[in-house]
Formats: sequence, C-alpha cells, structure tokens
Amino acid sequence: MKNTFTVAGVMGWPVAHSRSPIIHNHWIHQHHLKGAYALFPVNPLRLEAAIRGLQALGLAGCNITIPHKVEAMQHVDWIDPLAKRMGAINTIVVQADGALHGYNHDGFGYIASLREAQPSWQPNAGAIVVLGAGGAARAIVVSLMDQGAQDIRVLNRTFGKAQDLAYEFGSVVTAYDWDERHEAISDCVLLINTTSLGMHGQAALEIELSQLPRAALVSDAIYVPLETPLLAQARARGHTTVNGLGMLLHQARPAFHAWFDVMPDVTAELRQAVIATL
Ligand code: NAP
Repeated sequence: MKNTFTVAGVMGWPVAHSRSPIIHNHWIHQHHLKGAYALFPVNPLRLEAAIRGLQALGLAGCNITIPHKVEAMQHVDWIDPLAKRMGAINTIVVQADGALHGYNHDGFGYIASLREAQPSWQPNAGAIVVLGAGGAARAIVVSLMDQGAQDIRVLNRTFGKAQDLAYEFGSVVTAYDWDERHEAISDCVLLINTTSLGMHGQAALEIELSQLPRAALVSDAIYVPLETPLLAQARARGHTTVNGLGMLLHQARPAFHAWFDVMPDVTAELRQAVIATL
C-alpha cells in the first residue's frame, strides 16, 4: 500500500534548536499536504543506523545538520557531484528503489538570499572576500564559482584551511592571511562572514570597514542574531546587508521539492514565523 503521509525531518546532535521544522511544517500546511517534518536527535555513534533506517521507516528523506554533514556522506548510496565538491551533504532523499541520495543545498540558499537582497547582483563584478574556511565557506565558495565569480579571497584564522581551499578550487580562489583582512576588503564588491564570530554567545568579528568600498554588499551566514555586529557596522556605513536567514530559508526549498513534489516560496509570513523564534 502506498504511504500517502509523507514524513521527513532533520538529524543533528543536538538538534532541538533547529528551525527547519517551522519552515517545512509551514509549507506542508500552506500547500494542504499530508505529512510532517520532525526533529531527530542522532548520537554520532548511531548515525549510520539512523540514516539506514530512513528507508525502513518509509521516510521521504531528511536534512543533515551539525555535526553530521561530512560523516553522513559515508552512509548514502550516491552523492550529487556538487555536494562532493562541497565536501558535505545537508539533505538525503530516499529514492523509489530505496537508494539514499545525498545533496547539499547550502550554496543554493546563499546565492538565492543574495539575489533576493540585491536582484542586480553580478558574481563577476569584482573581488569577493570570504571570511572563514569551514563547511559554510566551502558551500558558498563552490556556488560563487559556479555562478561565475572570478576573484574569491579566502581568509581564515587557521591559514592552512584557506590554503587548502585555494589549492583545491584553483586560481579563482586565493588564500590571504587573517591579518590581511583590511587590505583584502579594500577593493572588494562583496564581503561574506562564514565564521561563527558574531553569533549569539560568541565574540564579535574584529574588522574595521572604513576601507571597504561604499558600494560593497556585506553578508553574514549567521542568523542568530539577525543583525551581527558586522552587519550593524556595515548598515551604519550605508552598505546593503544580507543576514543568514535567507540562506536558511532558501536552502530548504529544493529539499522540500524533492520530498513533497512542490517547490515552495519564501514568503514574508514564513520569514516572520521563523523570526518569532529567534
Ligand atoms: P565550521 O565548519 O565549524 O567553521 C567555523 C569557521 O569559523 C572556521 O573557519 C573557523 O576557523 C572560524 N572560527 C571559529 N571561531 C573563530 C575565532 N574565534 N576566530 C576566528 N575564526 C573562528 O562551521 P560552519 O558550518 O562553516 O558554520 C559557520 C557559521 O555559518 C556558523 O555561524 C553557522 O551558524 C553559519 N551557517 C549558517 C547557515 C545558514 O543557513 N544561514 C548554514 C551553515 C552555516 P578555524 O578554521 O580557524 O577554526
């Protein structure tokens, strides 16, 4: 008998803070679908068993969040080439034959959030500075390259990780020392923070924007708080700013489409529903 009640969810450890249930359950309700999206706290030692259980339980798939995004790649049957380049998956889709396919939509979400904030945004308009070289940075760098960016400067506290990205992704990506951040931004058109600095409970990112060109766009992958000290400083100087909420909301769209067969929109109502929980 075909299961007409579609279930998906998110695996993380811890996972109680995830806003994904609000997003997906909002769309399920909006589109009058039969289904539910749940939180799955999965101990790292049980990740393989949990992922392999998706098919047995009849789930449509799940999102994968911290700390499982890299390890989960070991436990699926096929990985989208884009996710392979990013080195992590954030979505699993159970196929009709039971095979588990892994995807990463973080970069899609990031680019969509940029275009939403500035529809005229052009990827090759000038230098792009990426602060950080972790998972979010990898997803964003790969997506910027695929959009046509020509000059991406990666700066990271641990310089070796920035160098690894430059080596892996070729001449479009250059590693700069963390202490060179003020020179690096002096002629850039887009500045992106992908470090955890500025997040609720963390120290602020130490950066002075006086050398940043006036027209530069400033974005932060963080969404708690919605306005990080970096974005507050940028806004005060008159820059267009983009917070991490758009990335979070937009990355959810292709996963929802794969599981529920409806491509949902990011509406003001959805945005408000998530902001109310921050
Ligand atoms: P990650 O892989 O752990 O990377 C963390 C990054 O932050 C690394 O580059 C790390 O540098 C840097 N960092 C941490 N503490 C630092 C410090 N005290 N000084 C300087 N740099 C520091 O984490 P991630 O998954 O990339 O996530 C990074 C941020 O993006 C988080 O705030 C996360 O919430 C956000 N994010 C948002 C979305 C969204 O949908 N909006 C999606 C994914 C992630 P080292 O290499 O030197 O340790």
